[in-house]
Amino acid sequence: MRVAIIGAGISGLALAYYLQKLGVPYDLLEASEYAGGNIRTITLQDFILELGPNALQKSPELHQLLHELKLQDQVMPVAANAHSRFVLRDGNLHKLPDSAASLLSNTAFSWQAKRRFLQEKDTPAADVPNETVSHFFGRRFGKEITAYVLNPFATDYCGGDPEKLLVSKALPKLKELETKYGSVLKGLARKQINWHDSFSFVNGMSTLPNAIAAKLIALHLNHCVEMITRGHGKYILSCSTPSETDTQEYDFLVLALPAHQAADLLQFTFPGLAAALLNVNYPPLAVVHSVYNREDVRHPLKGFGAWHAKAETTLTTGSIWNSSLYDGRCRPHEVLFTTFVDQFEVNGTVKVDRQELLAKVNQELCSRYQICSEKPVFEHLYLWKQGMPQFDLFIEDAHQMAAELEQQQVFISANWQAGVSVADCIRHAKELAHKIKLKRSGELNNL
Ligand SMILES: Cc1cc2nc3c(=O)[nH]c(=O)nc-3n(C[C@H](O)[C@H](O)[C@H](O)COP(=O)(O)OP(=O)(O)OC[C@H]3O[C@@H](n4cnc5c(N)ncnc54)[C@H](O)[C@@H]3O)c2cc1C
Repeated sequence: MRVAIIGAGISGLALAYYLQKLGVPYDLLEASEYAGGNIRTITLQDFILELGPNALQKSPELHQLLHELKLQDQVMPVAANAHSRFVLRDGNLHKLPDSAASLLSNTAFSWQAKRRFLQEKDTPAADVPNETVSHFFGRRFGKEITAYVLNPFATDYCGGDPEKLLVSKALPKLKELETKYGSVLKGLARKQINWHDSFSFVNGMSTLPNAIAAKLIALHLNHCVEMITRGHGKYILSCSTPSETDTQEYDFLVLALPAHQAADLLQFTFPGLAAALLNVNYPPLAVVHSVYNREDVRHPLKGFGAWHAKAETTLTTGSIWNSSLYDGRCRPHEVLFTTFVDQFEVNGTVKVDRQELLAKVNQELCSRYQICSEKPVFEHLYLWKQGMPQFDLFIEDAHQMAAELEQQQVFISANWQAGVSVADCIRHAKELAHKIKLKRSGELNNL
């Protein structure tokens, strides 16, 4: 009984890896010429640039995977002095407090905001139907800290609008802390979550997908699945390769690709799910890399980066200070920023004037970081026309219908199901591999 996995982003790669370990035959079909999907490092001139993730959060599965892939000596933790986050308030950058004591002495927030934040421990838990992330934070921590810290954090972490994202779907672990411990702060203290456990790799994030891909015996790059049909209880996949069109039959089907791309493939076989998948929102996201000479930047950049609240009406939602996080991202006399922009004129197609956008980003960086050169020494723009899936009300139907299809041996291993972080995609893929193995052997037939 064969398994087809469509898409070799981290979700599909991890699933193939775990199935292979369990001895389950599979084919992993990837449309493009490289594996990794959203995880993409490019090296241009002397710069190592991330088009997707910049920092991974350690999880038990990821830890184990790094060990199995023998990647430990490639891991590059965030520099010890670069963990602090900054927020923009009234045009100035303020370092975020990292303890209750430093919160009290912080000048960025009013006394009322600090008191309200600390009162979270005594704020009763509540179950609000379809509660958004922003509402949840506001209810628990007050409006000011929500507007300037927590909403920008959610935009960064989930790649979306906290006023639309559902807390139960986008940040389920925080909601669970409220439910279980009566307070997010109490829960965080009990769980002892280490927010400083982020890392990359010496040669960038693509190290991870490349290492998994190198282990796989049935990864087929340049294999774009064009159509899925059904016949004699099998899934028939038509696949285009550079030289031919290939047709293969499978017993199990795993969709490891973005919801809108899965929708195109399912419109004849499962039109209901296809329609629900088309409703999943993927707002566009631009990633701008800017390199300046260190001596031209007056800000010390001692930290991870900065979040920008909506109230600051900036074009950019935040910047990561890559050269502070990891060595070797640019030359020693330079600094590298990665800046995110999520405001576009979207009218059926995404319209971006690249030169205008780069000029505006440069303008904002120059005023924020007291940069005295007119232009960066290097700049690069990458546009994700469809960035990250939004865990808002529109995703609910897709989740529900996808769960029902498991009866018909169709499974999902993708960020729109698992959660957007790479760690979540890997955890979900591992669980799914075990589920498929059991289903194949008939032990889970009644599920
Ligand atoms: C700008 C950005 C920054 C991010 N930052 C972070 C971060 O710092 N930390 C973090 O943990 N996460 C981050 N993420 C999220 C994380 O990178 C993604 O959620 C995750 O990589 C998605 O993996 P996936 O395999 O589910 O999907 P994808 O990466 O989208 O992979 C899907 C694959 O399917 C293939 N495919 C599509 N159609 C077909 C077809 N018809 N036939 C065959 N193949 C097909 C595609 O080519 C692609 O390779 C970021 C994402 C983005 C975009």
